[in-house]
Amino acid sequence: MLAPAIRHMEFERADGAPFAFIPGQFVQIHFTYADGKPTKRSYSVATIGDGSGAVPRIEIAVSYVEGGAATNLLANLPEGGTIDASGPYGRFCLDEKDANRRYLLVATGTGVTPYRAMLPHLEKLGQRGAEVALVYGARNESELLYGEEFEAFARTHPHFRFYACFSRAARAQPRAHDRAGRVHVALSELKPDAEHDIAYLCGNPEMVDQAFALLKDAGLPVPHIRREKYVSSR
Ligand SMILES: Cc1cc2nc3c(=O)[nH]c(=O)nc-3n(C[C@H](O)[C@H](O)[C@H](O)COP(=O)(O)OP(=O)(O)OC[C@H]3O[C@@H](n4cnc5c(N)ncnc54)[C@H](O)[C@@H]3O)c2cc1C
Repeated sequence: MLAPAIRHMEFERADGAPFAFIPGQFVQIHFTYADGKPTKRSYSVATIGDGSGAVPRIEIAVSYVEGGAATNLLANLPEGGTIDASGPYGRFCLDEKDANRRYLLVATGTGVTPYRAMLPHLEKLGQRGAEVALVYGARNESELLYGEEFEAFARTHPHFRFYACFSRAARAQPRAHDRAGRVHVALSELKPDAEHDIAYLCGNPEMVDQAFALLKDAGLPVPHIRREKYVSSR
């Protein structure tokens, strides 16, 4: 368990082949409802690769959704169990053609997993002089997924800052870049800059819409505000 209601799961392809993906992409899990009707759900890949473009394991973070069909399937999957999946899909990825000075990466909940997968790429961005601010919203400390990994990355990569925004309760031992409130608190403080920033927004659809409005008001061109909304795809 990564958090009281969020499970980290790891999968391997049944044929033993590595899984090729670009950080930011997701997989789809295919299954059937009790009445036999087929359905699917999407999960962003959280795996940190070695730069080869393929990984031995597909890691995902699964939120518990009350009464959720995929939640039920995954919660009851025994260790070593098999599921049907396809992918990778999606274009919520860093673009090597971008030459912006700063990245604003914004997430709530499991929406932070694409940024975890992007860490090796974020490291390289420092080499071309770009700054990266990861703004992560959680209700409290226990819901901050992979928080220590991001903190550790920030300590060794001065171009990367990790802003943990707590909407309900502060950490027992607050850190320098913690903020009280939702992600827009840190985002406003960072003074989004139309000329130099590219933003990525991932997670709760309401947060994505609000952050999009804030960034658009700040003058960021829409192609520089990239979005992934975690809506249920039924
Ligand atoms: C591109 C993409 C990537 C995604 N990546 C992830 C990921 O990495 N991790 C992850 O956990 N989820 C992710 N999601 C969401 C995921 O695909 C499912 O929608 C979610 O897990 C709920 O599925 P379920 O079958 O358990 O619930 P459902 O059976 O779909 O829903 C059950 C009930 O809960 C409501 N509901 C659905 N989702 C939520 C929610 N998030 N909060 C509150 N109520 C809800 C529904 O409206 C419904 O009433 C992603 C979605 C997209 C589109």
